[in-house]
Amino acid sequence: MIDLRSDTVTRPSAAMLQAMMTAETGDDVYRDDPTVNALEAEAAHLSGKAAALFFPTGTQANLVALLSHCERGDEYIVGQQAHNYKYEAGGAAVLGSIQPQPILAAADGTLPLASIAAAIKPDDIHFARTRLLSLENTHHGKVLPLAYLAEAFAFTRQHQLALHIDGARIFNAVVAQKVTLEAIARYCDSLTICLSKGLGTPVGSLLCGDEAYIERARRWRKMTGGGMRQAGILAAAGLYALQHNVTRLQEDHDNAAWLGQQLHEIGVEVVDQQTNMLFVRVPAEQVEPLKAWMKARDVLISVGPATRLVTHIDVDRAALEQVVTHWKAFLQQ
Ligand SMILES: *Cc1c(COP(=O)(O)O)cnc(C)c1O
Repeated sequence: MIDLRSDTVTRPSAAMLQAMMTAETGDDVYRDDPTVNALEAEAAHLSGKAAALFFPTGTQANLVALLSHCERGDEYIVGQQAHNYKYEAGGAAVLGSIQPQPILAAADGTLPLASIAAAIKPDDIHFARTRLLSLENTHHGKVLPLAYLAEAFAFTRQHQLALHIDGARIFNAVVAQKVTLEAIARYCDSLTICLSKGLGTPVGSLLCGDEAYIERARRWRKMTGGGMRQAGILAAAGLYALQHNVTRLQEDHDNAAWLGQQLHEIGVEVVDQQTNMLFVRVPAEQVEPLKAWMKARDVLISVGPATRLVTHIDVDRAALEQVVTHWKAFLQQ
């Protein structure tokens, strides 16, 4: 199978599984798991934050991030298409009584500061208390410019807001911008990172922040059912990924660019390509036939009018050459 639906579909390599099998473990709720502790220390070190916390999923890490910043009746400003507004089942509102204030992102994935300023509520009993700005980096493959992050961070200091970055794919930004994680994370108070996407682990996310914040998050994690026991088996995969699978993300970016070029040459309308995501337009009448055509050839693509193709560690150039060959044959029938 060649699976281009998402970078979440990656499977652990033999070397990663070996690291998991030989991991030292303990009970992480007692903070006794040396491998979890090592992963959290490494995440804190890389992000330049004082502390980090390991989670089973990015959704739970984002939920706990919001719960640890905001109280009941507070509000967070967030992108209309952001994962932690649109794709997390409304968790902040349902479980935290935190009101989202979604705003439209600009074409480059940033949230314009003027729009944020207009959405901040005055201190008045009619309104929820605006407490937090949440950005997503990368956002649909788009890397937020460092200059923007610096401005947004300064803006939040002026307006007494905290700044959270949903960095599910932050290492794609690190590699694309050729900077350290710390160079990005210095412009936020808290950061979530997914280990289970392009980094190739089966499970795991991290939340980074200062000591007091991460202590609050630890209680929320327990309450939301995320206190795991011998989680070192999973953390070992994360440590392996941070050591071996970060710089190789550039291959995924190069592959996405190459695929875009090849599809363009056979007449497919390419809308955008940034980092490991390629967006193409598929004419409505081709949607179902193309999906079936590819599936019959062991290629999985979420085909729609706006089709997203995601490159990752489990698809190499040879696999993408096959995809182009099948697509060309589909168009020529
Ligand atoms: C995948 C993703 C998450 C977290 O997803 P999980 O599947 O719960 O790990 C959060 N934010 C963004 C932008 C994502 O792409």
